[in-house]
Amino acid sequence: MASQHHRREVILFLIALILPSAVLVGLGLRMIAQERVAAEARVADEWGTTVRQIRLDLLNRLENIKRGEIEALTSGSGQVHAHRYVNPAVQLIATLEDGRVVLPWERNRAEVVRRRLSAAPFADWIWQGERAEFRRRDLRTAIECYGRAVELAQHPAQSAFARLSLARVLAGAGRVEQSWAQYRQVHAISPDITDEHCVPMPLYAAARLLDARLDQRQVQERLGTIIADHGWMAPATLRMVQVLLDTLIVAGLDSSVRSAASELRGPVADAIPVTDMALVLQHDFPSLGLRYPAPSPGSAEARWVPYGERSWLISTASFPDGVTDVLIALEARAVLAPLRDPNVWPAGHVGEVRVRSDGDGEGQLLGAALPGLEVVFPRASGTDVAALQRTLYGLALLLVVSITFFGAFLVWRDVRRELRLADLRSQFVSSVSHELKTPLTSIRMFAEILQTKDPPDPRMQADYLGTIVGESERLTRLLNNVLDVSKIEQDRMIYRPRPTSLAEIAHRAVQALEYGLEQEGFTLNVDCPDEIPLVPVDPDALEQAILNLLTNAMKYSGESREIDLRLRSENGYAVVELTDRGMGIARQDLERLTEKFYRVPTSENRHVPGTGLGLTLVDHMAKSHGGQLRVQSVVGEGSTFAIWLPLESGE
Ligand code: ADP
Repeated sequence: MASQHHRREVILFLIALILPSAVLVGLGLRMIAQERVAAEARVADEWGTTVRQIRLDLLNRLENIKRGEIEALTSGSGQVHAHRYVNPAVQLIATLEDGRVVLPWERNRAEVVRRRLSAAPFADWIWQGERAEFRRRDLRTAIECYGRAVELAQHPAQSAFARLSLARVLAGAGRVEQSWAQYRQVHAISPDITDEHCVPMPLYAAARLLDARLDQRQVQERLGTIIADHGWMAPATLRMVQVLLDTLIVAGLDSSVRSAASELRGPVADAIPVTDMALVLQHDFPSLGLRYPAPSPGSAEARWVPYGERSWLISTASFPDGVTDVLIALEARAVLAPLRDPNVWPAGHVGEVRVRSDGDGEGQLLGAALPGLEVVFPRASGTDVAALQRTLYGLALLLVVSITFFGAFLVWRDVRRELRLADLRSQFVSSVSHELKTPLTSIRMFAEILQTKDPPDPRMQADYLGTIVGESERLTRLLNNVLDVSKIEQDRMIYRPRPTSLAEIAHRAVQALEYGLEQEGFTLNVDCPDEIPLVPVDPDALEQAILNLLTNAMKYSGESREIDLRLRSENGYAVVELTDRGMGIARQDLERLTEKFYRVPTSENRHVPGTGLGLTLVDHMAKSHGGQLRVQSVVGEGSTFAIWLPLESGE
């Protein structure tokens, strides 16, 4: 009944514990979820601020570059076609005329050249020369016609064009020396004189001279000055220069010419894709949505548009004169790369600014002024903190729940121990009552017999009196045990050690039980040598302990009727050893023998009266004297209980 009541209490207690824990866990999980949402909002907010700041900073940087270039151009230190820019990120600056991009090499407008070359009477002589040369194969007439054209030429372009035709037909007529002389003259004129394809005329002459393996050094030097001074070259010019340099590299007679030509080739090859891209840009410009007429540098209307495979950033700008407009192209990588440098970029920015490519869209766009540019934030930057917080919350929660459950476990363990103790106590009460009742009954019975008017014969009388004395002693021992345990519980147990002869105490104990042993037919083999030194021990407590062991040996001997009592000294200890050949004790019970009220729960034991206090006292006595109780036992074979006491007092 009582234990059922206890069990219900335990269950209620556990429910009272689990419920709040579950509520706690639920609340914790909700808090974690809320915290995650809040963290995401925080990150989005931070990113928004960062994006705004990046937009401002980047626009400032770009407009500053634009302003610098325009200042250089308007101050007279630069020309649009010069191909020399203040900022190394600038790829191209081209003028805008009527909404059309005029590329830097187009300054000698093809149209003008074409008009000049078709002006009469110059064009008539050229036309006649070509008819004679190509239709009639009349080279002499052709030479005459081209010669007239040379004489009539009013512009260097006309003169160069006529000389190139004259040189060609002279070579065809076998007058090579005269032909070369004409080519040399054209080769020497300014590279600013171009044909309608914007190709400098001297390059045509250079090609012919190189074909004839003539003037290689002069041609190489000429190409050098053209590349160095001439600024922007049209794509056709660049390709022609590249071919001429390749010819010099392969067929150059002089090694210095060859190596100079290869040095020149690098920049030319690099310039070709840029001019190609500029050509495409010229075509695409109207569709880019850039403002024309252009806003002034730094104006709020300024826009920068990413363009092309090489990722240029394109913008338009007006000169301070308010008339000239230009297009400016920057290499996006060169402008954006420093943004990753924490020394350049405002501290704390963790994103990467890049041109948005088709398909992906994971970044945050930088707005209308910088269309197509986005800031990509590393995935982990914002969520890391949130994840860390979540983990910490989780751990804290786990800790709280674990502590709660650990506390519950401790309480449960205590309650269980109490329950067990309560069980043992009630068992104890019933065994003590039983133990008291048995001797009291026999004492009373024999005393009553002796009291009758017709007493038994003297031998029987002595027997009855022996039984009465024996049972009284048993009662005394039992009460002594109970009193001693209660003293131990209250911490009032006092031992009074004094040098004691163990043999003497052992004999006293044997004497006290002699009657019972004899009655029950036990043979007690006593081996108590006198030479064992005196031991500092409380003699009464020791006697009580030996009596407890001896009565146990008798109680648990089963069918066996032989007990050994030995005294010996070993390693500075005196040992009192009691061996029986009785029922023995299982290994798992050995550890609990000295627990208060503990009795080995076997069916054989159930019929043996006992309180479970005897060994508790023996163990306490041994330990209190600096010694110990050792037990060896085999089930069915018997047990040996040994009290080890130090020969020298510890204190
Ligand atoms: P009890 O009054 O029950 O004998 P003890 O404290 O003296 O109490 O012994 C505790 C238990 O140890 C006993 O109930 C018994 O089961 C076991 N025990 C003690 N001595 C022996 C022994 N010599 N042989 C077998 N079992 C023993």
